[in-house]
Amino acid sequence: MKLFLSLLLLSAAGMVSAADVPRFDPKPVIERKISLGQESSLVLAQDGQALFEIVLPAKATRVDRFAAEELAEFTGKIIGSKPAITDQASGTVPAFIIGDRDLALAWELPLDQLDRDGFFIQTKGNQVLIVGNDSAQLDPKRSAGWYERGTLNGVYDFLERVGGVKFYFPSEYGIIIPKRKDWSIPEISVTDRPDSQFRRLYCVGVSFSGDKTLHMPAGMDANDTRRLTELRLRMSTLNIPNCHGLAKLGLVQRFGETHPEYFAVQQNGKRINGTNPTNSHEIEGQLCFTNPGLKEEIYQDAEAFLSGKPATSRNILMPDGKVWWNKNYFSLPFFNIMPNDSNYRCFCPDCAKVYDAGPQAIADHVWKFKTDIAKRLQENNIPGYITVMAYSNYRIIPTMEIPKNMIVHLAVTGPWNEGAEKLQQRDEALLEAWNQKLGAKTYLWTYAEKVMCRIDGIPSFTPKAVGTFFHRNGSKIFGAFLEGEVDYWMFHSLNFYVFGKVMWDNSIDVNQLLDEHCRLMYGDGASTMREIYSTLEKHWLIDIRSDVRETNLGFKAVTPSLHEIWTKIYSPEEMARIGNLFDQAAKEASADQECAGRVQFMRNALWQPVLDARKAYEKADNDRETWHAYMLPASEKITIDGTLNEKAWETAPVYWMIPRAGYVKAKDQVEVHTRIKMLCDADNFYFGIAADEPHTDKMVAAERKKDEIELWKDNLVELFLAADRTSPTLYQIMLGSNGNVTDLLCLPEGLDSTWDSNLEYQPGVVPGKMWVAEVRIPRSSLPDLKGQEFVANFTRGRVLNGAEFALPYYTWIPFRRQNSENCGTVTIGNAPENPSIIKYGDFAEPVLNKRFLGEWGSKSNWFGDKLLKRDTEIFRTAGASIRLESDETTVDTLTQYLSDLKPNTRYRLSFFARMEEVSKTGAVASGFYANLRFGGEGLNQTWNPLSQTMAGTMDWRRFEAEVTSPASVAVKHKPYLQFNLRCAPGKVWIDHVELVEIK
Ligand SMILES: [Zn+2]
Repeated sequence: MKLFLSLLLLSAAGMVSAADVPRFDPKPVIERKISLGQESSLVLAQDGQALFEIVLPAKATRVDRFAAEELAEFTGKIIGSKPAITDQASGTVPAFIIGDRDLALAWELPLDQLDRDGFFIQTKGNQVLIVGNDSAQLDPKRSAGWYERGTLNGVYDFLERVGGVKFYFPSEYGIIIPKRKDWSIPEISVTDRPDSQFRRLYCVGVSFSGDKTLHMPAGMDANDTRRLTELRLRMSTLNIPNCHGLAKLGLVQRFGETHPEYFAVQQNGKRINGTNPTNSHEIEGQLCFTNPGLKEEIYQDAEAFLSGKPATSRNILMPDGKVWWNKNYFSLPFFNIMPNDSNYRCFCPDCAKVYDAGPQAIADHVWKFKTDIAKRLQENNIPGYITVMAYSNYRIIPTMEIPKNMIVHLAVTGPWNEGAEKLQQRDEALLEAWNQKLGAKTYLWTYAEKVMCRIDGIPSFTPKAVGTFFHRNGSKIFGAFLEGEVDYWMFHSLNFYVFGKVMWDNSIDVNQLLDEHCRLMYGDGASTMREIYSTLEKHWLIDIRSDVRETNLGFKAVTPSLHEIWTKIYSPEEMARIGNLFDQAAKEASADQECAGRVQFMRNALWQPVLDARKAYEKADNDRETWHAYMLPASEKITIDGTLNEKAWETAPVYWMIPRAGYVKAKDQVEVHTRIKMLCDADNFYFGIAADEPHTDKMVAAERKKDEIELWKDNLVELFLAADRTSPTLYQIMLGSNGNVTDLLCLPEGLDSTWDSNLEYQPGVVPGKMWVAEVRIPRSSLPDLKGQEFVANFTRGRVLNGAEFALPYYTWIPFRRQNSENCGTVTIGNAPENPSIIKYGDFAEPVLNKRFLGEWGSKSNWFGDKLLKRDTEIFRTAGASIRLESDETTVDTLTQYLSDLKPNTRYRLSFFARMEEVSKTGAVASGFYANLRFGGEGLNQTWNPLSQTMAGTMDWRRFEAEVTSPASVAVKHKPYLQFNLRCAPGKVWIDHVELVEIK
């Protein structure tokens, strides 16, 4: 990239007029030359003794030093003894000279003509020179960074090419080191550099549960693994920033108040200028690309930055209150003007015209803003480049010319569309069209990441697709970014390895690469492990990622439901088959201890998460039955008037909303209660939702048309209805507190607003107390809900203007994602009698005499050692739970006598518990536990369903355990179930306790 680099330097210095800057089109400059002699002439080791030295020149950088240490480390492992690192060649033994640029000059190795990231390896006499261009600013022990490290790349190349080392992933299990007690090497003359000039990876933790941990195998640290992966896979060192730069110029801070017209107008007339953001893409504003004042400001910013002026010259006031250029977005000679994410449409009259005119007009509109700025910079001889992405509604090619000082970064799904032929063909046609438009190559942003496809614990392990995709498209691109967020690092380890290899040398055959990998890693277990690799890749790429539907907005990938994943894709039979393959590979590899260790390591890394995820799914599926509601036939005519005053409403069972998961993890505390009731008759379903609200005067309700999606931004309740949990379609009905309605049919490929529920809806308000949604829906409008049972969820969005509150979202069933899988069950008819021999298990009844809960005179009342603390803010069901509180020396208990307990009978106990900062003390049985005492004679008279005392902080969790009662019960004393918080400071909540005979 020498040619390209010098142009950049010249233009940055203003020596070439910007109008003459050629299109950014980097290519490999120096020819790749690999020459290894036939004879092994240089002796590096005999009998396990290293017979060479590693020499660092006086001017060695930290890169050179690290390169020398890596060379010593791995050659030492090859031989069995580590060579010395010195600062002077002794002349008596072979010497590796690391990063000596003066020597390179003397040997006529043209460092100044070397591509960025390239290197030379050259032998002469008993010396081996490994040298490239290195930056004095980089410390590879701390980070990879955007700094040159050609010498280090050369050392890794020597270790791989000559030493046979493989850096699959940074762990003893992922690095292959051939052992050579006697080692001689031939004459070497290598000139190498990457085929692709931009090679970048990104990986952080992501999971659907909201857990942002990047799970690493034992012994691997996430930061070290990332750093060493980037270094050893020789990622590129030139930063070409290109990611939402217009969100990073402090526009909200600089112009939010003074120039609101710079910002996009919403339908409700408000500007998205950073005030009252409803999501992260609104915090830094959304822009009006028609506004000439805005264009002028951005132009001036770009001119100042590219001319080397400080941020103060433009007052780039950032959200932290300081004035600075963010180098992740603006790095000479590049200035990024990609719009903020989501790129909202602006509803100002001029923009509205554009948006009505269709996709090409929209793309042209956004591109005109950008190309005008680039053109003006060119005309004014400002050096450098404007970088932009082709993404979102400006991904298609605009009709106007793209100035030569613009660099386009094209967003395509990439490797993960290898199973979706139509989508892939469309993207590759677009890439080709962009090449033609620019008359040059472009670079890609690709998405092999789990942000958009969050299925916890399923391996997104697709090395073959990564290799195939970049190999096929190598000639059309000068590089790529592989975005790779994932829950478990190891799922992507080989994706990254293959990416590094194919981007460096595009001719690589990925099948050969994977065959070699399996052979070296697993020995005789290679072919079985290769089959496992192919199986995991097929499940992700074909079975999970390739269902592409054509919609009126284009193609859309549809992810299967968890039910489909665990019954069809990773079905019990398929999981048994894969488990057997691991058994088989372990057996085959057993003769070689290292290979056997790697099979076991990969089994833990790739397969254990699947086993764990299946368990979690089965538990969640089972827990969902807690949310089972009954819809009673109405005994009278229901008038839809916004009050639930008919007798039928009064007798209908009540269901309560709880905080929506992910919003108040630390507290789980409702601020207001929301109660749901349901009724039906032959022709209609009725839903009545009473939402307590002290601030009925502050409820947000915009003026809206029917079926406006944006209704979710107002104060509202929503109904979700579907046939069953496997149903791909879901009815969604939004009911605004001022009477607005949006009813939609949610299909896997998107929302259909043409469906109409034909509902009758009337909200009612009791000022300062609550608002009520009463709705009638004809059953004929819900053809999916045919049987006596369907599934549903109910949510509430509490949106107030001018009132302080912490929790905006409530839900009936505590799952984050709104789909039929995450619904509770609704049965039409009376609730059957509760089979639980525990009574009042939902704690819905009042506390009596401070120590009892239940009914006067009942034998089955709950009672406590201390006063009973019924908590109506933190609960799972029926609006209340019981809270236990203790300290170092006292015990808090919750007990119920079991008057109906039978001997020799199988029972299932289940309950929800939650803990807050419970800390054990030295006292006996300190902590939280439960026990059931049978009260009979002989053995097994006590059962501890939690199996151990618990402590710490725990989110609400459902416990379930089974026991068979002994032959003798209730002889010595009355049987009872007791929850204890014993001699442990902290709090525990208990809810929805059931003890059911298993028949
Ligand atoms: Zn506008």
